[in-house]
This record gives sequence, C-alpha cells and structure tokens, in this order.
Amino acid sequence: ADVTASVIVVGAGMSGISAAKTLSDAGIKDTVILEATDRIGGRIREQEFGGLNVEIGANWVEGVNGNELNPIWDMANKLKLKVFFSDYDNLYANTYKQAGGKYESSFAQSAFDKADDLEKFGESVSKKLTATRQEDISILVSQRLKNQVPTTPIDMAIDYYKYDYEFAEPPRVTSLINTQPLSTFANFGEDLYFVADPRGYSSVVYHVARQFLTFDKSGKLTDPRVKFNKIVTEIEQSPSGVIVKTEDGTVYRAKYVMVSVSVGVLQTKLIDFVPDLPPWKILAAYQFDMAVYTKIFIKFPHKFWPTGNGTEFFLYAHDKRGYYTIWQQLEAQYPGANALLVTVTDDESRRIEQQSDEETKAEVMEVLRDMFGKNIPEPTDILVPKWWSNRFFKGTFSNWPIGVTRFEYDQIRAPVGRIYFTGEHTSEHYNGYVHGAYLAGMVATYTTDSFKLIPSLTQPFMSCSGIDSAKILIRCAKYGQYAGTILSQRV
Ligand code: FAD
Repeated sequence: ADVTASVIVVGAGMSGISAAKTLSDAGIKDTVILEATDRIGGRIREQEFGGLNVEIGANWVEGVNGNELNPIWDMANKLKLKVFFSDYDNLYANTYKQAGGKYESSFAQSAFDKADDLEKFGESVSKKLTATRQEDISILVSQRLKNQVPTTPIDMAIDYYKYDYEFAEPPRVTSLINTQPLSTFANFGEDLYFVADPRGYSSVVYHVARQFLTFDKSGKLTDPRVKFNKIVTEIEQSPSGVIVKTEDGTVYRAKYVMVSVSVGVLQTKLIDFVPDLPPWKILAAYQFDMAVYTKIFIKFPHKFWPTGNGTEFFLYAHDKRGYYTIWQQLEAQYPGANALLVTVTDDESRRIEQQSDEETKAEVMEVLRDMFGKNIPEPTDILVPKWWSNRFFKGTFSNWPIGVTRFEYDQIRAPVGRIYFTGEHTSEHYNGYVHGAYLAGMVATYTTDSFKLIPSLTQPFMSCSGIDSAKILIRCAKYGQYAGTILSQRV
C-alpha cells in the first residue's frame, strides 16, 4: 500500500531536517523524510582521507563573534566541536609568485590595503544604490567605477581570495547590492572557525535530528520516518493532496510536500513536477546560481612548507586568475598528517571534475614546485570532491547573481499550492551557508502563505507579524528556542 503522511520532506540535509523538526515541534509528527543518499547531512559531509576525517562539504562556521549569535555556532559550542579560528591576516606575508619566491611583504601589504579600500568603496556604492532604489550592478562594475579592476597576478589573487573564495563565482557575476555588505558577517560577526572534529561537522545536523527523531543506543538513526536511498522523481499535486514517486517505484501520499533539494537540482529535470511549476517559479529558480567550490586535499610523506604562527593560509598568484590560488596547511587541525588543502571554484572546478585525479595531482604538483622548488616529494594521497557532477547536488552552494531582484528571490522560496520550498537558497539573508539552511528550514514551515501548513500557527504569527509577516517571522525564528516556544505555546 502507498505510504501516507501529513507532510513529505524531500531531502535530509540541514534544511530538510530543520523543517521536519519545526513541524514536529508544532505537533505535526507524521512526516516522511525521503533522502536520495544513505545518510543525513547533505552538503555537510565528512570523508575518510588517508586516515583523517576531512570535510568535503561545509567546513567553517562563518559569522562568529558579532552582535547576534549564529545558531550553528551555538550548536558547535554545545557539542564541543573541535574548531580552529581562521586567521587570514598574514596572507600578505605568504603570497607566492608564479615564477617562484614570495612577494615582498610591504609590496603585498599595500596590494591588500588597496583591495580593502576597493571593497569599502563597493559597500558604499551598494548602500547608495539601495538607498536611491537603483538597479543592481556586479561587484566588478563597482571596481570599474573606481577605475581599479584587478589585472596583475597579485591583485587578481587577492581579488579571488576576497570574492571567489567566499561566493565561488567571480565579481563579474556576483550581485553588489545583495552581497556587500554580507548579512552573515554584518549580523553574526567577521570571524570564521574551521571545524575539524572526528565526529564531523555533520554533528550539527545530528544535533537537530536527535531532538525529534529516534536513534538507537549505538547512535544510529533508526527512525522509520526517514527513508534512505529514496530518489524522488515526481511530485504531483491536486487540490486534495500530493503524490510523491521515487525512482524505485514507491508512492507516497501526503497533504503537503516540502522540497529541500539544492537550487542546482531544481534546475535539472531530476524531479518532475505535475502539473509543471508556474513560469514565474521556474524563471526565478533558474536565474539563481548554483556555484561550485572544490576543496582538494593532498597528503605528503613530509612537510616542505612553512609551519607555525601566521603560516596557515597562503596564496599563489598565477597569471590565470583562480588557478590553484588559495592554500591552507592543516598542521594545527591534523598534526603530523602533512596535509594541504587547495581550493578552486567555478570553471576551474568544472574543468577539474572532468579530468582524472592523476591529472589534477600533476597540476597541483607543478604549482607546488613553483612555490617551494623542485625537490619536493610526491603526494601519498589526493582527494578531489565532485559536487558538480553529482545529480543530487549539481554544485556546492547558491550565489546571488546580478539580475535577480529581491522580489524574484522571494519567488524562489514561495510555495506553489501544496508544494513548499526550503534549502539554503531560500534563506532570506544567509543563502549559501549552513546557518542559512537551518534558518530556512524553520521559516519555510510558517512563512506568509504557509499558515495552511500549520493551522494552529495562524494566530500567533498574524499578531507577531502585522505588516510584513515573512520578514518578522524570520526575525522571530532567528533562534530555534524562540520559534520553538511560540510553537509549543499554541499546540
Ligand atoms: P543539502 O545539504 O543539499 O540537502 C538536500 C538533500 O536533498 C541532500 O541530502 C540530497 O542528497 C537530497 N536530494 C537531492 N535530490 C533528491 C531527490 N531527488 N530525492 C530525494 N532527496 C534528494 N556553508 C557554511 O556555512 N560554511 C562553509 O564553510 C561551507 N562550505 C561549503 C563547501 C562545500 C564544498 C559545500 C558543498 C558547501 C559548503 N557550504 C558551507 C554550504 C552548506 O554546506 C550548505 O548551504 C548547506 O549544507 C545546504 O543544506 P540544504 O539542506 O539546503 O541542502
């Protein structure tokens, strides 16, 4: 017989788990969570690599030590996750030339200062455009306005560090008014902490899951409501309910469905919506960008790079912008492991995903020989995650491109009949982040039109909101406890 539930949640990443927990807190416990892979966590994923547990997806808690508490930071503290403050202040002393050797510190320092000024200029342009309700421009256009488009290898490396390393797309693509300043750092603080815990960063997802799902004594998720290896291929809605079909031929029926797959997956035909989603919805979702950010881990028999204070991050300034630019040595996180992490994005990520790991290794070694000389050992291991070619992700996180207005962004998360949407790409202020996924999951269950989903919530949120419910609800929902309190009072 078909499986029935009140709400089917598609995807068990941070946002799907957060949405299901919010529903559970509101008394809606007969949910079914359909997950394509064999685990919860989605894009927060640890992987064994040469005896280490490395994070191939999200790695940092971003936005810490500010005015507001990042809910993920709160969880990391509660779980006592092993975290490492990321100090980028010494990059100027660790910037390597393509031809070998480092740039002189004072020269590099002035290049960084210039880039900081350029960034501040961009923020001021952004504020002016917003205040006068003018159209968006790209970050690159703001650089042109100051006649300071980065063109030398060092200026491009710094520019890549400032923008591509955060957004995984170049300043030519990225929206100025929606990213400068960025809410994550403006609200939660400027600091970043790197998670390197044997339990994995996905512990934060388990932390949310444990509050409403059943686990056995060994810590294994045994809750029958979570179905693994269930690839949703069709969602059909009618006035009376939804029918969700999976690749293995199982049929699920429910009153509502909450879709948490990435915007990259939404842009493919993996899930067929019957009837088709309306044109406004498709246009909005297809305009947003699914960026690609690739973290290549490499292990060596011994270290040949500087270690100690102020050496963790270093830059390689190639004349091709974004060519193996950002490096991190992981001595603090994985002592004695002789591990490096190099990050590539966008076109480089897509190129690298299509070649063999041997070819990537050869490129990486050439770059390392440029920086550290010919006499360096061959690596013992290399790990090249492939998020872009994975049909359940199609990239790593969303980036706000120029051309998408706030109105269109709201359309991306708006429900269509009985189909609701969550995921990091639906977070009002924090798209692209773990905290965005978590907050979006909570909010998706009770944004403006979704009172139907939790009827008992209509009252409190009507009074909580008044004018613009969606906005205020998000403020209400900033901390899990708060939303939880309101919910439980009413149920
Ligand atoms: P997902 O985690 O993608 O969850 C969706 C789930 O749906 C997945 O489990 C997927 O398997 C499943 N699914 C897909 N299709 C189907 C289907 N048809 N049927 C059933 N299930 C399906 N954020 C930070 O805050 N800090 C960082 O340092 C950081 N770095 C990152 C680095 C990388 C390489 C990546 C990949 C991401 C990074 N992020 C970072 C972003 C962060 O990981 C994501 O924003 C967040 O985890 C997304 O959660 P989600 O629930 O929205 O989506």
